Amino acid sequence: MTSGTTIFAPASGFGRAAIAVIRVSGPACASLLTALGGTLPPPRRLSLRTLRDPADGEVLDQALVAFLPGPATVTGEDMAELHLHGGLAVRAGVIRALAAFPGCRPAEAGAFTRRAVLNGRLDLTEAEGIADLIDAETEAQRRQALRQLDGALGRQVAAWRERAIGCLAGAEAALDFSDEGDVDEAALDAGLLDEALALRDEIAAALADERRGERLREGFTVVIAGPPNAGKSTLLNALSRREAAIVSAQPGTTRDAIEVRCDLGGLPVILVDTAGLRETEDAIEAEGIARTRRRMASADLVLRLVPPDGAASPPLSAGARCLPVRTKADLAGAPGEGLAVSALTGAGLDRLLDAIRAEAEAALEGGDALITRERHRDALARCLAHLERVLAGADRLPPELVAEDLRLAVRALGEVAGQVGVEEMLDRLFSGFCIGK
Ligand code: GDP
Repeated sequence: MTSGTTIFAPASGFGRAAIAVIRVSGPACASLLTALGGTLPPPRRLSLRTLRDPADGEVLDQALVAFLPGPATVTGEDMAELHLHGGLAVRAGVIRALAAFPGCRPAEAGAFTRRAVLNGRLDLTEAEGIADLIDAETEAQRRQALRQLDGALGRQVAAWRERAIGCLAGAEAALDFSDEGDVDEAALDAGLLDEALALRDEIAAALADERRGERLREGFTVVIAGPPNAGKSTLLNALSRREAAIVSAQPGTTRDAIEVRCDLGGLPVILVDTAGLRETEDAIEAEGIARTRRRMASADLVLRLVPPDGAASPPLSAGARCLPVRTKADLAGAPGEGLAVSALTGAGLDRLLDAIRAEAEAALEGGDALITRERHRDALARCLAHLERVLAGADRLPPELVAEDLRLAVRALGEVAGQVGVEEMLDRLFSGFCIGK
């Protein structure tokens, strides 16, 4: 499939640099390179050209250009790359010339990857892998994104889908032939059910991964909880200063900094301070607090802070693992359970970081997870439910209903790689992409 328009976008960052790369994709690439550079460069070779504005012959730059004929390109279309001198005026001049070229327009966010998916060069899971790779902040996230970009999830789901289609074909054949009464239905069913059973078990095993893949994408969330004045904010500050590889300290949606993303030994860990949790009339702050509460509800680990005066903690979210921490260890207090730390002297902070890292490792590193997004989990869970119905109903439901469940199981698997409903999922995915990807 070749789209009618040709799109272009800077592929390198903004601002001054040694080189600025502009990528172009679409049917006008060859004519555009000829118009700008005088002659079409040989395919897939960087060639030096003096680029001129086709409108008035004005020299724009001396640049390296490449012509990449489709379909063996990332988008599946003809592509061009312009490696310009990275000055602002050079880039602006070339972009203006490209925009004026017939059939050419600036690319929207994710437009190159969208074309790659629509032209079958990437499946949806691989496109998601690219998005995750761009967003990866730690080594473990990068490894997971590269695995998905390499097709780990796509290949597995495609294999499951092939087998489910095999079952469906068997069930439909049984349906067709049962009218003629000359086929042994039971024999067909036995093989089909064995296969459905095996598929069900494999998909259930992939789903039973304790959301490792999603947690790695999103970060392991550690909520710091405790009564007022327990030392929550001070501890968050001390921990984040200690950890050299802070990725970003986001001013929370409340007025205070309540969330710090850090890289603990290659693992993404988000420390959340709940000190901002208080009653408020301010709508923006209230929204921030609501968000913090949702974060707490889905925390992976709660640090339950106990100050020396032993004040009681507010109730905690159920389910999350909990690590008791005695704060202000430099002050005299009653001995109790948990790690003793002092944000003031730094005592115990390294042990606390080690304990958090160990918890994150246990949660994130139990083997490579296949599923990295809720979208995958949702589709596979629906597939599983349909397979369960096939297995439960095979000997008592009408064969039409069994076949329908198999069809829906195949459909759910198709959603993962984007064989079904791809446009809508692309819209959602690319809304977060950068221009030029
Ligand atoms: P939060 O309300 O739980 O966030 O508590 P804060 O972090 O605001 O701390 C409350 C008070 O305890 C402040 O006056 C801090 O200076 C003090 N504080 C916090 N950590 C320590 C500590 O390790 N040692 C001592 N001596 N005081 C601390």
